[in-house]
Amino acid sequence: MPDLAEAKERMLKEHLAARGITNERVLKAFREVPREEFVPDHLHNLAYEDMPLEVGRGQTISQPYTVAFMTQLLDPHREDVVLEVGTGSGYQAAILALLVERVFTIERFAELAQKAEKRLGRLGYDNVEVIVGDGSRGWPERAPFEGIIVTAGAPEVPPPLVEQLKVGGRLVAPVGKGVQEMVKIVKRERELEKEIYPGFRFVPLVGEGGFKDA
Ligand code: SAH
Repeated sequence: MPDLAEAKERMLKEHLAARGITNERVLKAFREVPREEFVPDHLHNLAYEDMPLEVGRGQTISQPYTVAFMTQLLDPHREDVVLEVGTGSGYQAAILALLVERVFTIERFAELAQKAEKRLGRLGYDNVEVIVGDGSRGWPERAPFEGIIVTAGAPEVPPPLVEQLKVGGRLVAPVGKGVQEMVKIVKRERELEKEIYPGFRFVPLVGEGGFKDA
């Protein structure tokens, strides 16, 4: 049985802190959330390696560095309400649950959503609500949000998501086919501020504001 605690400390130091993850609250959340609970049993020993892992239905939990990079870009504050598009395993949602007031997370596969919901409940992340649906349309019922994070690659930032952002709110989304660039948008009164970071790889966002087929 490999020592997961040791592997986790190595992840924090070598894959996160050494690569520019400096937000102390973000690092603390990564220390707290047991990533092994979000991957299939036979992959437990790889839980703290910096690699994506399968979570079923051909989908993957992103590598820890990518989750941390996106979380830090989102600039989460304690009182924020955040929307995540692409629940997958629920890991990103669990990280966010420790950093913000409330998390809504949407998943297109009911099977994955149910598993993630059960897992998040069992682990006590009770400020997360899992929704089954097409997150490329956002979640107008609960909008606007201080933060929106998309964890699947889209052809462009879906316009409804920008609309559902509060003024001062931040959106982080990988954009592109095959290889993506990470786009961060900050919504201002009269304009959108945009930053771009190249070199990411995600499963596709499939839906109205995403790709039309898987
Ligand atoms: N954030 C996840 C990893 C996401 S993988 C985690 O921490 O484990 C991307 C997920 O987005 C997949 O589960 C995929 O089914 C889902 N997805 C793709 N298109 C979607 C859409 N339009 N709406 C909601 N979920 C979508």
